[in-house]
Amino acid sequence: MTNCIIARSVGKNGRNDYSDVLKVQNRLNEFIDARTLDLLRLDPDGDCGKLTTAAICLFQELYLNHKHPDGRIDVGGPTLDKLNGPIDVERPGDVNDILARSIATTLRHASCMHFTVDGITFLPGNFAKLAEYFEKKRLRAIYSPAHGVNAEYFHKNTSDYKGCLFAGFQKASSAVERSIVIHECVHAYCDSIGRNMMVDVAEAIAHFAQTLYYFDATGSSYPATGNSNTNALLTKCFAAVKQLWLDGRRTVKPNEFETLRKAAQSLSNGYFAYDGT
Ligand SMILES: [Zn+2]
Repeated sequence: MTNCIIARSVGKNGRNDYSDVLKVQNRLNEFIDARTLDLLRLDPDGDCGKLTTAAICLFQELYLNHKHPDGRIDVGGPTLDKLNGPIDVERPGDVNDILARSIATTLRHASCMHFTVDGITFLPGNFAKLAEYFEKKRLRAIYSPAHGVNAEYFHKNTSDYKGCLFAGFQKASSAVERSIVIHECVHAYCDSIGRNMMVDVAEAIAHFAQTLYYFDATGSSYPATGNSNTNALLTKCFAAVKQLWLDGRRTVKPNEFETLRKAAQSLSNGYFAYDGT
C-alpha cells in the first residue's frame, strides 16, 4: 500500500498540484486493481481530469456513503482518511454490502433455528457463524435485480465458504425476505459441512427451516407462492412445524421428513434454486 500524503486539496475545485494528484491517482489505482472500484485504471499523469474526479466521486459514494459526493479530497479530511485505510473493508454505500449486512443481521437473530432434521442438527450458532462469513466476505452477497423477489445460493467449493447468495431484494427486511435468506443459508450451511445430498432432501430441509422461521416471526404459515408444487411443500412443512411446536419437539420425525422429501421431489426448479415468491 502506498500511503497517500498530499500537501493540498485534490479533485473538483481543488488545488490539484501535480505531485498530489499523482499520489491520489496511484492510490486510487490500487483500489481499481483490487476491483473494489469498478473503473478502468487511471493514467497517472498528475492531471486531475474527468476520470480522476469520477473515481474520487465513486470512492466517496462507496467508502463514505456520500449521496452527493463532492469529488474533492482535502488535507485532513474524511476522504483522505478512507483513502489511506484498508481496501477490503466494508463499504457502507455499496449495495452488496447493504445486502450482506441485512443477511448477517437476519442470521444473528435466528434464535428459533434450533432443530434436527434428517440427522442434521441446526443451531442458532451455525447461523451466527454464517453471519460472520458474510461480514468477512468469505460468503458473498450479491444484489441481483433479475432475481425479483427471490434469492439463489451458488456453492463454488464445498470445502470452504466461497459461495454467493444472489438476492433480488436490496435488503432482507420483511419476514418473507428474511425467511428466504434462511432458506438459502440452510443450503450454505449444508454446503459448509460438505454433506452431499440430493436436491429433494436439500429442498425439503431448506423449506422446512424457512417455514419454521416464518412461523416464529409471524405466527402464520408461509404465504402462497406462484408455484403450486412449492405451495404444497410449504403446506406440508407448516403441518410439521406446527406439530413440532405443539409437541414441544425439536426433531422432525423420519416419517414426517419422508413426507416433506416426497413433496420436494415435485419441485421442478433447478439445483438448490429457490423459486418461492
Ligand atoms: Zn432451495
